[in-house]
Amino acid sequence: MKAVFITEQGGVDNMIYGEVPFPKVTDNSVLIKNHVSGINYIDTYHRSGVYPVPLPFIIGKEGAGEIVEVGKNVTDFKVGDRVVHFGSGTYAEYTAADVSAVEKLADDVSYEQAAAIGIQALTAWTMVRDGYPVKKGDTILVHAAAGGVGLLLCQMLKHLGATVIATVSTDEKAQLAKKNGADYVINYSCEDVVKRVNEITEGLGCHAVLDGVGKDTWDTSLACTRRLGTLISFGNASGVVPPISIGCLAQKNVKLMRPMLFNYLATREESKKWWGEVFELLRKKVLNLHVHKFYKLEDAKQSHLDLQGRKTTGKLLIKF
Ligand code: NDP
Repeated sequence: MKAVFITEQGGVDNMIYGEVPFPKVTDNSVLIKNHVSGINYIDTYHRSGVYPVPLPFIIGKEGAGEIVEVGKNVTDFKVGDRVVHFGSGTYAEYTAADVSAVEKLADDVSYEQAAAIGIQALTAWTMVRDGYPVKKGDTILVHAAAGGVGLLLCQMLKHLGATVIATVSTDEKAQLAKKNGADYVINYSCEDVVKRVNEITEGLGCHAVLDGVGKDTWDTSLACTRRLGTLISFGNASGVVPPISIGCLAQKNVKLMRPMLFNYLATREESKKWWGEVFELLRKKVLNLHVHKFYKLEDAKQSHLDLQGRKTTGKLLIKF
């Protein structure tokens, strides 16, 4: 089958589009023919070496498609089921996924929708429900608000009754963040974020700061978190946050969290709960999906260049 894989971590030129062996179905896994796969920032970390992976490695963590084979212990799924999954190796025509990482799709959810909400919506929703349970009237700062996770965060926060302060790097992205629920937008490539946040919050800062940018925004994020507030650092788009001295949290009794989505989905029950809630948000139209572009599998390299080049908004998908 065709796939995009690496034999060595590094730049986009290490991404190879070519023929790989068909994945093997184990007793507790299912084989899925992918119709749409999601492109996520984590794919760039796997490719570049920010996160270690076993080599050779087929890139991609999420896909949606139909089951074409089931392992002998599998009882919950059958051939023909339409599913979304977080199996490893989804930049590929077929993926073998452990059943713990597979969720059935209702008839009214398309493959495009499932792959577009997947990792990004679950990351956003777990953050605002568990990481910091957002309450009506809270003021929340969201960095990279026109990105995949960012736009979904804006929509969810609006739904929960929060005041949303968004940061973005261009005027076009600012407009999009506004359209998706941001009350205030700060262009962090030319404005002083801390100053603006202090003006908006009358010097109090935000109840929570949701930071997927990482290294470049760490100091700003801490400065924008109010006394007793929560700072969630959930990604490394600009690089990994350097080690911090824990005492920096004491100035305002800040709660710091560094979540990883897959630790919210460790059991079948957890997975069903979070997926169920996110599907409900989609059904209620709280979530409005914004797909930046559908890429061909052979153009996956370009998708990484676009994503890391800050040229994209919303979700990037591979269509087979
Ligand atoms: P995005 O669509 O948000 O793309 C990243 C955005 O980050 C860019 O569009 C850009 O927006 C901003 N950015 C700021 N500085 C840089 C930089 N130096 N280089 C590149 N981008 C920069 O990606 P995703 O929605 O896929 O992911 C967002 C974040 O969420 C990532 O850090 C990702 O790792 C994290 N994540 C974490 C998960 C977890 O389990 N912890 C799960 C899923 C995602 P702008 O131009 O407006 O600055």
